[in-house]
Amino acid sequence: MAENQNVKDEREILIKVRNLKTWYPVKKGLLKRTAGYVKAVDDVSLDVYKGEILGVVGESGCGKTTLGKSILQLIKPYSGQVLYGTGEGEDLMTMKKKELDMMRSKMQIVFQDPYSSLNPAFTIFRSMQEPLLRFGMKNKAERKAKIASLLEAVNLPADYMERYPNEFSGGQRQRIGIARALSVSPEFIVCDEAVSALDVSIQAQVLQLLKDLKEKYGLTYMFITHDLSVVEYISDRIVVMYLGHIVEAADTEELFENTLHPYTQALLSAIPIADINMRRKRIPLQGDVPSPVNPPSGCPFHPRCPKCMDICRKERPKPVTIYRNGKPHMTCCHLVEAE
Ligand code: SF4
Repeated sequence: MAENQNVKDEREILIKVRNLKTWYPVKKGLLKRTAGYVKAVDDVSLDVYKGEILGVVGESGCGKTTLGKSILQLIKPYSGQVLYGTGEGEDLMTMKKKELDMMRSKMQIVFQDPYSSLNPAFTIFRSMQEPLLRFGMKNKAERKAKIASLLEAVNLPADYMERYPNEFSGGQRQRIGIARALSVSPEFIVCDEAVSALDVSIQAQVLQLLKDLKEKYGLTYMFITHDLSVVEYISDRIVVMYLGHIVEAADTEELFENTLHPYTQALLSAIPIADINMRRKRIPLQGDVPSPVNPPSGCPFHPRCPKCMDICRKERPKPVTIYRNGKPHMTCCHLVEAE
């Protein structure tokens, strides 16, 4: 099955995540002893290539938002490394606060609900100037000119900066959220369910805008979503998360054409397809994602997996990488190990 293992991957890596664990202690009793951990992200390693759009998918509660925030150090991970920068990279996990604050201009996040990050009592100018002030742009005329150019970059009129958040539609507010993220000239943006709250027609416009901005500014995105259709449209590569782990990772076309993991197969089978001849047989997912406090033994997906075998209940599958046309396709499943 494997081929071309010796073909070197020439893509330049911007971020290397190594053995990242974001665990939260569960305290019990009067003495508040640590009785266990919620393992929201558990031993995740991945590379983010410079200039790519990396999709991160999975059901709600699988750890994808925690992974994005942990990479940006908005949540302090329990252990591991996040090496930022091409070459060897600098470890964000060991940086002092001052160094990390300086790095924040390179890494930004766009949330699902931009309304929550825009103060309703402030004009757009006042909200958008805050990161510019933080990074040293003292001159008000300069800030106004910068904000005007950012609003135009997201296809909004410059004079919108004098208005308040409640005067905008959801799509316009998301454009403002994107403009705000761009204000400090980042290299890397985490888009966390950035179009999930929008109508389908507005979603398409905002996705196209994100693609255009990526080309214009040479950006790298991590695009977190539960929506497989969105991730297929926008991503160059996809990682699939389940219960804090990456269970499959490949280029988008490869992942959709040669899906290896039963969890990914179930997720893809649920995508609505208009053409009746192209429809996949629906694989129902039984139950919910189990609690990360007490994850199942062996393969964490085994209680819901339609292909579960004896070994799956006892042994956790190791990551296996196969190669097609020199591109890696990783999965964690005993079925693939056995081939
Ligand atoms: Fe299913 Fe077993 Fe593969 Fe886990 S290892 S996904 S339980 S077949």
